[in-house]
Amino acid sequence: MEGRRPTADSRSQFWLMCMRCCVLAGCVDVALFFIFHYLGSPILAWINVFSGPMYAIAWWALKTRRNVLALTLIWIEVLIHATLGSLLIGWEAGFYYYLLMFIPALFAGNRSYRRAALTVVALWLFYIGLAVATHLVEPVQPISENARLALYLFNLTVLFGMSSYLSMYYMMTVRRAHRSLSRMATTDPLTLLYNRGYMVELAGRHIAEREHGGRRLAFLLMDVDHFKQVNDLHGHDCGDRVLSQVGALLREALREGDSVGRWGGEEFLALLPGADTRQATQVAERVRQAVAGYDWSLYGLHAPVTLSIGVSEHQAGEMLSDSLNRADAALYAGKHGGRNRVEVALETEQQSAAGSQAG
Ligand code: GH3
Ligand code: MG
Ligand code: MG
Repeated sequence: MEGRRPTADSRSQFWLMCMRCCVLAGCVDVALFFIFHYLGSPILAWINVFSGPMYAIAWWALKTRRNVLALTLIWIEVLIHATLGSLLIGWEAGFYYYLLMFIPALFAGNRSYRRAALTVVALWLFYIGLAVATHLVEPVQPISENARLALYLFNLTVLFGMSSYLSMYYMMTVRRAHRSLSRMATTDPLTLLYNRGYMVELAGRHIAEREHGGRRLAFLLMDVDHFKQVNDLHGHDCGDRVLSQVGALLREALREGDSVGRWGGEEFLALLPGADTRQATQVAERVRQAVAGYDWSLYGLHAPVTLSIGVSEHQAGEMLSDSLNRADAALYAGKHGGRNRVEVALETEQQSAAGSQAG
């Protein structure tokens, strides 16, 4: 379901853009009505009297989701307008420009690129036919050279405005879809915290920064205690809601600049840039208290949800997995020490292995 959202959103944006284009085109028709009257071309002036209401109906059809009717009206209007304009005044008046507006719209509005491409070919043939026809036949209602130039400049200006608007719309849609995709690619959908992949990427960046003389870096590896019992006693849905609430509490309890993600099932990882072991332990204790002190009866639980937390600080030359293995050994010690505890990792992996064996 999540994956479909950008498409649905970009499609509704497409219809919204069509509605705005109808308003713009309607305004252009009103302007053309006066221009043609002024130029002494009554037939073309009266065409605009029909075109305006057609765009109004197309706008209404789009608003009431009669999209096929709206698109049909827009196609008919533009084709007739471009054809009559070119045949009556001549190719040089630039009415053919409006046909070009269909090309990007066809690809944006059609789910099938093949259908869009075939329609573009048909449009191209129509375009060629119109160009040849206006070449062979003299304009039916010619206007003066200057008036034709003025009309050409008007049509060109409208085309520039509409193309800019369309291009802006396309880029906005692409950027919005890109933002939404990258959010989905880095977020855990249940807790809305970062996902494991993104936490690895973030940790890698912090470690690289530290190796180049940057800030220290501490890790908190957190595991919900006896979480299986929550599922068993209250159901999986309740378990999901509890995990999501734990995520919210972690976000609140951590410092600005810290990052927290869901590391796996009921395990979470926090990165604390700039923190040494002592500061990280204080933060971990605050997090532990925030979770244990929350009113879990709101979720129908009889006992509070608690976390066991392993703290480690990145040592020079260490890989991410080394730091996390030490944090994991500390977490393991916390579980063995009775849970709902913060334990600090020893400084090297040999020591922590020895420590966990001893524990
Ligand atoms: P411990 O204190 O030793 O960590 O005990 P535990 O019960 O938390 O650990 P265990 O590994 O036995 O069980 C973890 C449980 O977490 C089992 C699994 O079904 C549950 N779990 C993992 N991911 C999810 C999830 O997304 N939603 C729910 N509701 N449960 C999950
Ligand atoms: Mg676990
Ligand atoms: Mg657990």
